[in-house]
Amino acid sequence: MLSTAFLDLPPLRSAGGQVRLPGSKSISNRVLLLAALSEGVTEVRDLLASDDTRVMLDALRTLGCAVEETGDGLVRITGLGGQAPRSPARLFLGNAGTAMRPLTAALALLGGEFELSGVPRMHERPIGDLVDALRQLGCRIDYLGNAGYPPLRIAHAAGLPALQLQAPIRVRGDVSSQFLTALLMALPLVAKEQDVVIEVVGELISRPYIHITLELLARFGIAVRHEQWQRFTIPAGSRYRSPGSIHVEADASSASYFIALGAIAQGAAGQNGIKIEGVGLDSIQGDIRFVEAARAMGARVTGGPNWLQIERGRWPLQAIDLDCNHIPDAAMTLAVMALYADGPTTLRNIASWRVKETDRLAAMALELRKLGASVEEGADWLRVTPPAAAQDWRAASIHTYDDHRVAMCFALAAFNPARLPVRIEDPGCVAKTFPDYFETLFGVVRAAAADIPVICIDGPTASGKGTLAAAVAARLGYHLLDSGALYRITALAARQAGLAPDAGHADAIAALARSLAVRFDADRILLAGRDVTDAIRSEAVGMDASRVSQFPAVRQALVALQHGFARIPGLVADGRDMGTVIFPGAALKVYLTASAECRAQRRYKQLISKGISARISGLRADLEERDARDMQRSVAPLRPAQDALLLDSSGLTADQAVDQVLDWWQARRPFAR
Ligand code: C5P
Repeated sequence: MLSTAFLDLPPLRSAGGQVRLPGSKSISNRVLLLAALSEGVTEVRDLLASDDTRVMLDALRTLGCAVEETGDGLVRITGLGGQAPRSPARLFLGNAGTAMRPLTAALALLGGEFELSGVPRMHERPIGDLVDALRQLGCRIDYLGNAGYPPLRIAHAAGLPALQLQAPIRVRGDVSSQFLTALLMALPLVAKEQDVVIEVVGELISRPYIHITLELLARFGIAVRHEQWQRFTIPAGSRYRSPGSIHVEADASSASYFIALGAIAQGAAGQNGIKIEGVGLDSIQGDIRFVEAARAMGARVTGGPNWLQIERGRWPLQAIDLDCNHIPDAAMTLAVMALYADGPTTLRNIASWRVKETDRLAAMALELRKLGASVEEGADWLRVTPPAAAQDWRAASIHTYDDHRVAMCFALAAFNPARLPVRIEDPGCVAKTFPDYFETLFGVVRAAAADIPVICIDGPTASGKGTLAAAVAARLGYHLLDSGALYRITALAARQAGLAPDAGHADAIAALARSLAVRFDADRILLAGRDVTDAIRSEAVGMDASRVSQFPAVRQALVALQHGFARIPGLVADGRDMGTVIFPGAALKVYLTASAECRAQRRYKQLISKGISARISGLRADLEERDARDMQRSVAPLRPAQDALLLDSSGLTADQAVDQVLDWWQARRPFAR
């Protein structure tokens, strides 16, 4: 999962392969609440792990449900059955509408004293229509901030008041369907002696989400009848009955990005487009109908019970004019697909976009324009005209408004014909529904090697390159190549094979280097399955490394391995010859120096902190010996690349050095400052 300030996607070329998607958010949080209201234990499989399900699980624990997470997507919930929830209780629900609305309704009907709040954006998302409906029934709910919005207090300290269940409960259906969902999930609690009827006032939007609610209620033993989606009847005697075990379908809205990817990207060599596992054409989620819209734009989609397969068909895509009321979330993906269409695409009936994680209509219009599209925006519609020609595209830094879907759909702009990178600000916001979205995407997309950015940081031993490179890579979300480690691993492997680091063994050591069974696993290094992270850091191995690295055959043997580190989204490589030999075309080369005195001091502190004793004068002599050998060797001698920027870190803190490199990098990026 990424937690960088921004993520620069390099221009992407093609895509192919298989993806597994996280569980549906809508299904996950509904299932959790229904399991909590049922009696006994419900085993929930493939639950989405995300911010929104996290706040729901925390809330259920606070309310007294036993929640057991086994770590592999399996969660066991022991429901409250008929018991009262723990009260008084304060629930923090982040930005999860799927937790705030149904919990408000359920807790209002269970009795007790509760405060429900969220992040500031949650306090701007309306809930008045739901509260009005619950107040009609006789529930006591107070606004703690602005009327009509969370935070809320449910004030049933003395128990549940007498409820007015005879008359139909009226709720507006044209602001958010979550109000109706909340009532449908909670009212079975009180449908004991009589039927409970809900009447929708105004047109019901997002009907597919109500369909999910009804399907899941049925799985939990509640058979709701409805007439024309306007009048819903919860039969007397309703009781939540756990299905025992329930599987959460992969999220159909998340699938939209990969369906679009298959429609936009050329197929990668040897792959039949994109295969999605975990959700299929028979899904209960409304957003599965995104498939129809994608087909209308040209995608070739096939599928079965739990899978979808997508290939690019018509190209450029066909512009469409579509009422998107049935796929409000996935329709955002259409807005980005529209960038690749043969004319203006109009998305209609999407007023609900204005009250989601952000005002999505305004957000999409603004960000699409940054890329060079012409966009018209109405109260409930959007028209996107793609950039006229490749040269009309712009390198854009996409603001994401803490809205996962904005971040995910705009990643698809990286297929632009101008081969411009796309910057996604706050990429970590995808955690709301799809924490590993970018990693999953990177697993199936390809870029031209020349388009993958590489930053080289070369310099003498103990100049601080390793620390600097790791920090820069972390700030950019890029991969990291510590090339010195490869020479150290080679030296260690030679030692283990009984080969002294002298010229007579050069070819044998090169052969070892060519077939190193090395794996970089988070921050550990494994050689033939054994953890050598610490072993390669000894001074003795370092000295051997500097010897074996003089042999041309050894250097040659490690070239392909090093090139392999340049992967999407980018690479920071540190060593001696990154800029001169391995990545001569790198976008930024830094040559890091520090005085011998200063480097000896740093190495000394490093060793002492690890409990290894050392003398500064000895360390300095070693450094100088190593520098001399690195600089004088005939192949790839240590020297700055001609186009390297020199950075003397003697007087700089680690943070200052990082900021300097990031400043240089930013100045070379095409994004407006
Ligand atoms: O940077 P580090 O001290 O880990 O590197 C170990 C040795 O590997 C260095 O002393 C240097 O001789 C060699 N090396 C190299 N080329 C690189 C990286 C390291 O020759 N790109």
